[in-house]
Amino acid sequence: MRREPILILGGTGDARRLAERLVADGLRVVTSLAGVTTDPVLPHGEVRRGGFGGVEGLTCYLRAEGIGAVIDATHPFAAQMSIQAYTACRMCNIPLYRLERPAWTRGAGDDWTEVASAEAAAAALPVRARALVTIGRKEIRPFFARPDVEGVARMIEPPAETVPPGWQVLLQRPPFTLAAERALIQARGITHLVTKNAGGAEMEAKLFAARQLAIPVIMIARPLKPEAICAADETTLIHLLLREHYS
Ligand code: NAP
Repeated sequence: MRREPILILGGTGDARRLAERLVADGLRVVTSLAGVTTDPVLPHGEVRRGGFGGVEGLTCYLRAEGIGAVIDATHPFAAQMSIQAYTACRMCNIPLYRLERPAWTRGAGDDWTEVASAEAAAAALPVRARALVTIGRKEIRPFFARPDVEGVARMIEPPAETVPPGWQVLLQRPPFTLAAERALIQARGITHLVTKNAGGAEMEAKLFAARQLAIPVIMIARPLKPEAICAADETTLIHLLLREHYS
Protein backbone atom coordinates (compact mmCIF):
# COMPACT_ATOMS: atom_id res chain seq x y z
CA MET A 1 0.00 0.00 0.00
CA ARG A 2 1.27 3.53 -0.80
CA ARG A 3 2.39 5.51 2.20
CA GLU A 4 2.26 9.12 0.95
CA PRO A 5 -0.05 11.16 3.18
CA ILE A 6 -3.51 12.10 1.93
CA LEU A 7 -4.56 15.72 2.41
CA ILE A 8 -8.24 16.24 3.20
CA LEU A 9 -9.48 19.80 2.79
CA GLY A 10 -12.02 19.83 5.58
CA GLY A 11 -14.34 21.99 7.59
CA THR A 12 -17.36 19.69 7.25
CA GLY A 13 -18.87 16.66 8.99
CA ASP A 14 -18.31 14.72 5.76
CA ALA A 15 -14.57 15.43 5.97
CA ARG A 16 -14.45 14.20 9.57
CA ARG A 17 -16.25 10.96 8.76
CA LEU A 18 -13.96 10.39 5.79
CA ALA A 19 -10.80 11.00 7.86
CA GLU A 20 -12.00 8.55 10.50
CA ARG A 21 -12.52 5.80 7.93
CA LEU A 22 -9.25 6.37 6.10
CA VAL A 23 -7.29 6.38 9.36
CA ALA A 24 -9.07 3.14 10.33
CA ASP A 25 -7.93 1.71 6.98
CA GLY A 26 -4.31 2.39 8.00
CA LEU A 27 -3.70 5.40 5.74
CA ARG A 28 -1.84 8.51 6.82
CA VAL A 29 -4.30 11.40 6.72
CA VAL A 30 -3.83 15.11 7.30
CA THR A 31 -7.00 17.20 7.53
CA SER A 32 -6.67 20.89 6.81
CA LEU A 33 -9.05 23.31 8.53
CA ALA A 34 -9.38 26.93 7.48
CA GLY A 35 -9.10 28.00 11.13
CA VAL A 36 -12.24 30.14 11.04
CA THR A 37 -14.06 28.25 13.82
CA THR A 38 -12.71 28.86 17.32
CA ASP A 39 -13.50 25.45 18.77
CA PRO A 40 -13.84 23.00 15.87
CA VAL A 41 -14.73 19.33 16.29
CA LEU A 42 -11.39 17.71 15.41
CA PRO A 43 -11.13 14.79 12.99
CA HIS A 44 -9.11 11.61 13.46
CA GLY A 45 -5.56 11.64 12.11
CA GLU A 46 -3.30 14.68 11.80
CA VAL A 47 -4.71 18.19 11.63
CA ARG A 48 -3.29 21.45 10.32
CA ARG A 49 -5.04 24.81 10.62
CA GLY A 50 -5.15 28.05 8.67
CA GLY A 51 -4.99 29.09 5.02
CA PHE A 52 -2.08 27.90 2.87
CA GLY A 53 -1.48 31.29 1.29
CA GLY A 54 -3.23 30.86 -2.05
CA VAL A 55 -2.22 28.48 -4.85
CA GLU A 56 1.46 29.18 -4.32
CA GLY A 57 1.29 28.31 -0.63
CA LEU A 58 -0.71 25.16 -1.27
CA THR A 59 1.68 24.05 -4.01
CA CYS A 60 4.66 24.49 -1.66
CA TYR A 61 2.82 22.56 1.07
CA LEU A 62 1.92 19.64 -1.23
CA ARG A 63 5.52 19.30 -2.37
CA ALA A 64 7.12 19.79 1.05
CA GLU A 65 4.84 17.20 2.68
CA GLY A 66 5.02 14.70 -0.19
CA ILE A 67 1.22 14.54 -0.41
CA GLY A 68 0.04 11.63 -2.60
CA ALA A 69 -3.59 12.71 -3.15
CA VAL A 70 -5.86 15.58 -2.18
CA ILE A 71 -9.51 15.10 -1.20
CA ASP A 72 -11.58 18.25 -1.38
CA ALA A 73 -14.22 17.66 1.30
CA THR A 74 -14.90 21.35 1.87
CA HIS A 75 -18.41 22.72 2.09
CA PRO A 76 -20.18 22.97 -1.32
CA PHE A 77 -20.04 26.78 -0.96
CA ALA A 78 -16.28 26.96 -0.27
CA ALA A 79 -15.57 27.69 -3.94
CA GLN A 80 -12.28 29.53 -3.63
CA MET A 81 -10.52 26.69 -1.80
CA SER A 82 -11.77 24.19 -4.38
CA ILE A 83 -10.46 26.27 -7.28
CA GLN A 84 -7.08 26.70 -5.60
CA ALA A 85 -6.89 22.96 -4.89
CA TYR A 86 -7.60 22.20 -8.53
CA THR A 87 -4.84 24.50 -9.77
CA ALA A 88 -2.27 23.38 -7.18
CA CYS A 89 -2.96 19.67 -7.82
CA ARG A 90 -2.49 20.18 -11.54
CA MET A 91 0.77 22.02 -10.96
CA CYS A 92 2.05 19.22 -8.70
CA ASN A 93 0.55 16.41 -10.79
CA ILE A 94 -1.35 15.07 -7.77
CA PRO A 95 -4.80 13.45 -8.10
CA LEU A 96 -7.69 15.54 -6.81
CA TYR A 97 -10.80 13.86 -5.43
CA ARG A 98 -13.94 15.60 -4.28
CA LEU A 99 -16.56 14.42 -1.81
CA GLU A 100 -19.64 16.18 -3.09
CA ARG A 101 -22.88 15.38 -1.32
CA PRO A 102 -25.87 15.69 -3.64
CA ALA A 103 -27.78 18.96 -3.61
CA TRP A 104 -31.26 19.01 -2.09
CA THR A 105 -34.09 18.88 -4.59
CA ARG A 106 -37.57 20.32 -4.40
CA GLY A 107 -40.22 17.84 -3.22
CA ALA A 108 -43.98 17.79 -3.75
CA GLY A 109 -45.55 20.74 -1.94
CA ASP A 110 -42.30 22.71 -1.61
CA ASP A 111 -42.40 26.43 -2.34
CA TRP A 112 -38.80 27.29 -3.32
CA THR A 113 -37.36 30.43 -4.84
CA GLU A 114 -33.85 29.67 -6.14
CA VAL A 115 -31.33 32.50 -6.14
CA ALA A 116 -27.62 32.81 -6.86
CA SER A 117 -26.29 34.68 -3.83
CA ALA A 118 -26.98 35.83 -0.29
CA GLU A 119 -27.68 39.35 -1.60
CA ALA A 120 -30.28 37.97 -4.00
CA ALA A 121 -31.79 35.90 -1.17
CA ALA A 122 -32.18 38.96 1.05
CA ALA A 123 -33.73 40.88 -1.85
CA ALA A 124 -36.16 38.02 -2.53
CA LEU A 125 -37.76 38.25 0.94
CA PRO A 126 -41.10 40.06 0.82
CA VAL A 127 -41.75 43.19 2.85
CA ARG A 128 -42.10 42.51 6.61
CA ALA A 129 -40.98 38.88 6.34
CA ARG A 130 -39.83 37.07 9.48
CA ALA A 131 -36.95 34.96 8.21
CA LEU A 132 -35.04 32.01 9.60
CA VAL A 133 -31.62 32.54 7.96
CA THR A 134 -29.28 29.53 8.15
CA ILE A 135 -26.38 30.55 5.92
CA GLY A 136 -23.62 31.18 8.47
CA ARG A 137 -22.20 34.46 9.69
CA LYS A 138 -20.10 35.66 6.75
CA GLU A 139 -22.98 36.63 4.47
CA ILE A 140 -25.56 37.82 6.99
CA ARG A 141 -25.07 41.54 6.26
CA PRO A 142 -27.70 41.96 3.48
CA PHE A 143 -30.37 40.47 5.76
CA PHE A 144 -29.51 42.74 8.68
CA ALA A 145 -29.56 45.66 6.21
CA ARG A 146 -33.27 45.12 5.38
CA PRO A 147 -35.05 47.55 7.74
CA ASP A 148 -38.43 45.90 7.16
CA VAL A 149 -37.32 42.30 7.79
CA GLU A 150 -36.83 40.58 11.16
CA GLY A 151 -36.09 37.07 12.25
CA VAL A 152 -33.61 34.52 13.49
CA ALA A 153 -30.06 34.10 12.16
CA ARG A 154 -28.56 30.71 13.02
CA MET A 155 -24.79 30.24 12.89
CA ILE A 156 -21.90 28.57 14.74
CA GLU A 157 -19.89 31.69 15.63
CA PRO A 158 -21.28 35.18 16.31
CA PRO A 159 -21.44 37.65 13.41
CA ALA A 160 -19.05 40.59 13.03
CA GLU A 161 -22.03 42.92 12.45
CA THR A 162 -24.15 44.48 15.19
CA VAL A 163 -27.38 42.53 15.49
CA PRO A 164 -30.23 44.92 14.59
CA PRO A 165 -33.44 45.14 16.65
CA GLY A 166 -35.93 42.48 15.66
CA TRP A 167 -33.20 39.91 14.96
CA GLN A 168 -32.05 37.13 17.22
CA VAL A 169 -28.80 35.23 16.67
CA LEU A 170 -28.84 31.53 17.60
CA LEU A 171 -25.37 30.04 18.05
CA GLN A 172 -25.92 26.36 17.35
CA ARG A 173 -24.26 23.46 15.53
CA PRO A 174 -26.07 20.77 13.51
CA PRO A 175 -27.63 18.26 13.56
CA PHE A 176 -31.15 19.57 14.23
CA THR A 177 -34.23 17.38 14.60
CA LEU A 178 -37.46 17.86 12.69
CA ALA A 179 -39.32 18.46 15.97
CA ALA A 180 -36.83 21.16 17.00
CA GLU A 181 -36.98 22.85 13.58
CA ARG A 182 -40.78 22.88 13.62
CA ALA A 183 -40.81 24.26 17.16
CA LEU A 184 -38.34 27.01 16.22
CA ILE A 185 -40.35 28.08 13.15
CA GLN A 186 -43.60 28.11 15.08
CA ALA A 187 -42.30 29.75 18.27
CA ARG A 188 -40.67 32.64 16.36
CA GLY A 189 -43.50 33.21 13.89
CA ILE A 190 -41.17 32.50 10.95
CA THR A 191 -42.66 33.22 7.52
CA HIS A 192 -39.63 32.30 5.30
CA LEU A 193 -36.63 29.98 5.48
CA VAL A 194 -33.37 31.08 3.85
CA THR A 195 -30.71 28.41 3.25
CA LYS A 196 -27.78 27.50 1.04
CA ASN A 197 -28.24 24.30 -0.94
CA ALA A 198 -25.68 22.50 1.18
CA GLY A 199 -27.26 19.05 0.76
CA GLY A 200 -26.83 16.18 3.21
CA ALA A 201 -29.06 14.64 5.85
CA GLU A 202 -27.56 16.48 8.82
CA MET A 203 -29.23 19.79 7.93
CA GLU A 204 -32.24 18.61 5.97
CA ALA A 205 -34.78 18.67 8.84
CA LYS A 206 -35.38 22.40 8.32
CA LEU A 207 -36.61 21.68 4.78
CA PHE A 208 -39.00 18.99 6.03
CA ALA A 209 -40.26 21.40 8.69
CA ALA A 210 -40.77 24.14 6.08
CA ARG A 211 -42.68 21.68 3.89
CA GLN A 212 -44.94 20.55 6.74
CA LEU A 213 -45.65 24.11 7.86
CA ALA A 214 -46.02 25.50 4.29
CA ILE A 215 -43.15 27.95 4.81
CA PRO A 216 -41.63 29.30 1.55
CA VAL A 217 -37.90 28.63 1.12
CA ILE A 218 -35.34 30.99 -0.44
CA MET A 219 -32.71 28.53 -1.67
CA ILE A 220 -29.23 29.79 -2.58
CA ALA A 221 -27.87 27.66 -5.44
CA ARG A 222 -24.41 26.10 -5.27
CA PRO A 223 -21.44 27.69 -6.98
CA LEU A 224 -19.77 25.67 -9.74
CA LYS A 225 -16.69 23.73 -8.67
CA PRO A 226 -13.78 22.68 -10.90
CA GLU A 227 -13.15 19.22 -12.31
CA ALA A 228 -12.13 16.44 -9.91
CA ILE A 229 -12.70 12.72 -9.35
CA CYS A 230 -16.08 13.11 -7.66
CA ALA A 231 -17.98 10.86 -5.27
CA ALA A 232 -21.28 11.54 -3.55
CA ASP A 233 -20.48 9.57 -0.39
CA GLU A 234 -17.51 8.40 1.65
CA THR A 235 -17.77 4.72 0.68
CA THR A 236 -17.60 5.50 -3.04
CA LEU A 237 -14.75 7.94 -2.57
CA ILE A 238 -12.68 5.47 -0.52
CA HIS A 239 -13.31 2.76 -3.10
CA LEU A 240 -12.10 5.05 -5.93
CA LEU A 241 -9.08 6.24 -3.96
CA LEU A 242 -7.96 2.73 -3.03
CA ARG A 243 -8.52 1.42 -6.54
CA GLU A 244 -6.88 4.28 -8.43
CA HIS A 245 -4.07 5.54 -6.23
CA TYR A 246 -3.67 3.67 -2.94
CA SER A 247 -3.82 0.01 -3.95
P1 NAP B 1 -13.37 29.66 0.66
O1 NAP B 1 -14.04 30.95 0.41
O2 NAP B 1 -13.42 28.61 -0.38
O3 NAP B 1 -11.83 29.87 1.01
C1 NAP B 1 -11.31 31.10 1.50
C2 NAP B 1 -9.89 30.86 1.96
O4 NAP B 1 -9.90 30.14 3.19
C3 NAP B 1 -9.06 30.00 1.01
O5 NAP B 1 -8.50 30.78 -0.01
C4 NAP B 1 -8.03 29.41 1.96
O6 NAP B 1 -7.02 30.37 2.28
C5 NAP B 1 -8.83 29.22 3.23
N1 NAP B 1 -9.39 27.87 3.35
C6 NAP B 1 -10.66 27.46 3.05
N2 NAP B 1 -10.82 26.18 3.36
C7 NAP B 1 -9.64 25.76 3.87
C8 NAP B 1 -9.18 24.52 4.39
N3 NAP B 1 -10.00 23.44 4.48
N4 NAP B 1 -7.89 24.45 4.83
C9 NAP B 1 -7.07 25.53 4.77
N5 NAP B 1 -7.46 26.73 4.28
C10 NAP B 1 -8.73 26.83 3.86
O7 NAP B 1 -13.90 29.01 2.04
P2 NAP B 1 -15.09 29.53 3.01
O8 NAP B 1 -16.37 29.48 2.28
O9 NAP B 1 -14.61 30.77 3.68
O10 NAP B 1 -15.07 28.34 4.08
C11 NAP B 1 -14.01 28.19 4.99
C12 NAP B 1 -14.07 26.80 5.59
O11 NAP B 1 -15.31 26.63 6.25
C13 NAP B 1 -13.98 25.72 4.53
O12 NAP B 1 -13.01 24.79 4.95
C14 NAP B 1 -15.36 25.10 4.46
O13 NAP B 1 -15.31 23.71 4.29
C15 NAP B 1 -15.96 25.47 5.81
N6 NAP B 1 -17.40 25.77 5.69
C16 NAP B 1 -17.84 26.70 4.82
C17 NAP B 1 -19.19 26.97 4.71
C18 NAP B 1 -19.72 27.96 3.71
O14 NAP B 1 -20.96 28.14 3.67
N7 NAP B 1 -18.89 28.61 2.91
C19 NAP B 1 -20.09 26.28 5.55
C20 NAP B 1 -19.61 25.33 6.45
C21 NAP B 1 -18.25 25.09 6.52
P3 NAP B 1 -5.60 30.42 1.51
O15 NAP B 1 -5.88 31.06 0.21
O16 NAP B 1 -4.74 31.23 2.43
O17 NAP B 1 -5.11 29.00 1.38
